[in-house]
Amino acid sequence: MQESYNNALNNPIFKIISEAAEELSVDCYVIGGFVRDYFLGRTIPKDIDVVAIGSGIQLAEKVASKLDGKPQVSVFKNFGTAMIKSEGIELEFVGARKESYQRDSRKPIVEDGTLEDDQRRRDFTINALALSLNKANYGKLLDPFNGIADLESKIIKTPLEPGITYSDDPLRMMRAIRFATQLDFQIALPSLQAITEHKDRLKIVSNERILDELNKIMLCKKPSLGFSLLHKTGLLELILPELTALQGIEEIEGQKHKDNFWHTLEVVDNISKATDDLWLRWAALLHDIGKAPTKRFHKKIGWTFHGHEFVGSKMVYKLFKRLRMPLNEKMKFVQKMVLMSSRPIVLSEDFVTDSAVRRLIFDAGDNVEDLMTLCEADITTKNPKKQKKYHQNFKLVRQKIEEVEARDHVRNFQPPISGEEIMATFALKPSREIGIIKEAIKEAILEGEIPNEYKAAQEFMYLKGEELGLHINK
Ligand code: ATP
Repeated sequence: MQESYNNALNNPIFKIISEAAEELSVDCYVIGGFVRDYFLGRTIPKDIDVVAIGSGIQLAEKVASKLDGKPQVSVFKNFGTAMIKSEGIELEFVGARKESYQRDSRKPIVEDGTLEDDQRRRDFTINALALSLNKANYGKLLDPFNGIADLESKIIKTPLEPGITYSDDPLRMMRAIRFATQLDFQIALPSLQAITEHKDRLKIVSNERILDELNKIMLCKKPSLGFSLLHKTGLLELILPELTALQGIEEIEGQKHKDNFWHTLEVVDNISKATDDLWLRWAALLHDIGKAPTKRFHKKIGWTFHGHEFVGSKMVYKLFKRLRMPLNEKMKFVQKMVLMSSRPIVLSEDFVTDSAVRRLIFDAGDNVEDLMTLCEADITTKNPKKQKKYHQNFKLVRQKIEEVEARDHVRNFQPPISGEEIMATFALKPSREIGIIKEAIKEAILEGEIPNEYKAAQEFMYLKGEELGLHINK
């Protein structure tokens, strides 16, 4: 007898769907991510896909009429799908279909089909698993493409010949890599070869969809798994050429530099252990992109990447724009992190002075902890002694930051003396001198010549005014 998986369907909503289907005399199944994650023992997703052998829209309407509060049904006629939100669950209904594709579009030509037709059009065998919601065989698993075996052997495979699957809808190439990274699965060799062969088909996928998958990879426990697959298949070169340009080690006159591509992937993995913040992870991914265009070889000093932080931060804007990423404060944050990415390193190498720390806090503002997290992740040396030393140095810098900030409060620096006060003190009209005095006060505070306090700043303003030949307005 076929095993039944009733316990996967213990949410009362499945019984309601089953009754509704029975009344309409259509068969229906729960399919896709829900079933996959049940068998993987992952947290059961909040979105549930139901396929009806008939009209998915009608089934959705029937189900909604049976649910408490009679939730609204959102119908997407063009896609033949309908969606209901009920008690935090998102139910998506679709009629079983057969799909065929044209060369220039991800949008298939659709006709009604059987359950197996519908399973065949799914991207991966592990996403084609279905559980019956029909009275006659409630909870029965339907697995014509051996998805369970692939779950067990942790492998991503397509139900159809992989060349067809990926060429039909090239977004599946990104999805394959994303699932492999999320689940720590291998992509079957024929799939990997097909992705490599059809990589250029990615051009028919919108940047938004590509980015969506890229961000999901970025949020995985070990993003480097995904990035190295993207690299291996040639997709990364199409999506982020700035990154692949970092690959390689050049040697001139016995002098080598490190491979900044593989180094970057290590940094992303490192930072992913410390933070789930997507944008800080992006900063890690992009922190060295300025190194390819700034790389030079000097006979005396060897390889240099002068100004790579500045060049890199400028490249961030173009890259964000191209990938349709938000051009808002998130981008500015990434730019700032890239621009400042070497600052704490310089501090940790030298004797740390209070004024250098004050300047770092002043420039980084509220992002100073994030910057330290990035710099710690940037330590990828394989020499255990050095590794320990660098981490210890950064610990000291962190301590210093806390001490200096507690004393001097320069994190969100507001000048203690305003321009208006300077004007009133010396009876000045708007002029260059005001800027000079303001800047001098700020510098004196950052250098530690005076404390960040009103009285001291006022005294300093009098002195500075005198130096400039100004008279106090009595
Ligand atoms: P997740 O929620 O983690 O993305 P999921 O498998 O639920 O996982 P969805 O994007 O919600 O992913 O898709 C639901 C189901 O629809 C998938 O399990 C798969 O069966 C099918 N599917 C989604 N996108 C595609 C696609 N591009 N090609 C073929 N089938 C797809």
